[in-house]
Amino acid sequence: MVCNKRRRTSTTTAAGIHDLFDDLPDDLLVLLLGKLSANASSPSDLVNVMLTCKRFNRLALHPMVLSKAGPKAFEIRIKNWCESTHRFLKLCVSAGNVEACYTLGMVEFYCMKNRGNGASLMAKAAIKSHPLALYSLAIVQFNGSGGSKSDKNLRAGVALCGRAACLGHIDALRELGHCLQDGYGVAQNASEGRRLLIEANARELASITNSSLRRLNCSVDRPSTTDSSGSLLSDFGYNIPAPEVHPANQFLRDWFTSGRGFIAEGLRLCSNSGCGRPETRLHEFRRCSVCGNVNYCSRGCQALDWKLQHKTECAPFDRWLIEDDDLEDDDDDGVNRIEQFGDGVNVETE
Ligand SMILES: [Zn+2]
Ligand SMILES: [Zn+2]
Repeated sequence: MVCNKRRRTSTTTAAGIHDLFDDLPDDLLVLLLGKLSANASSPSDLVNVMLTCKRFNRLALHPMVLSKAGPKAFEIRIKNWCESTHRFLKLCVSAGNVEACYTLGMVEFYCMKNRGNGASLMAKAAIKSHPLALYSLAIVQFNGSGGSKSDKNLRAGVALCGRAACLGHIDALRELGHCLQDGYGVAQNASEGRRLLIEANARELASITNSSLRRLNCSVDRPSTTDSSGSLLSDFGYNIPAPEVHPANQFLRDWFTSGRGFIAEGLRLCSNSGCGRPETRLHEFRRCSVCGNVNYCSRGCQALDWKLQHKTECAPFDRWLIEDDDLEDDDDDGVNRIEQFGDGVNVETE
């Protein structure tokens, strides 16, 4: 099909020169658009293609193009969220895009509160070995998110963490290390747990250093927008930039902090600013035992936030002003487990 708009454009810009795209068969264009989709730096990269002409619009919605879209193609801003963006994500899910399954799963589970649908979308991504989906489902299992306290399934959480850790997910490796150290959902093995924690720290340092170098190379003369959340106070003795926030977490955080999303009274957001997960029931998250001012969905979030900022903020004095009853009313079987950690450097429990 010849596109009128493309032909008009080519005649305006280069009168007399034939538009080469008109000669390309659809399957070749689909291949090219698939490459573009995989490397898109934002959703507008794809949207602009769709707006070019009817032919491009039709081909950009081809399942082969949608199935290849990368995480940045789903970096949807809250103000742009509408029925069409939701439909676009659903189309990508139908096309078998694992990243879309994970992103829409997180949005459905936490923002839309469609727990069943969200969890099954994340499971769809997890089955295809998506590390973030595996880790997110592990958090759901550890916390019993979307259900009651009795819905916690520690063994399932450990199993999901194990799979995510094998695929290189650092927070999952750290969580697994703590589980082994404490015998939480798995037979206790303190030395193996400690070994995994050291490995997680080493891998974290390597990955952040590599991504920092990449960002430095890409933006020599302009400040990086992803570093705005501050520096990470490394256990290795020097400061390095915070890791990039995944688009799904960014969406969750903006959804709830912008007021677009509603959090029921008494429920809290995870204090790690790069997480965005809200509690799904009262006292689901655990808080820092020293100051009692911050709450985390997982050890991964506590470890990162500790290094990013809480290390400089955590003061035990506030706690002494709080009545013991207040401090203990939300203790559950997971509280002390998370409160004692901080890679062994931050908190002493009472
Ligand atoms: Zn979190
Ligand atoms: Zn604290």
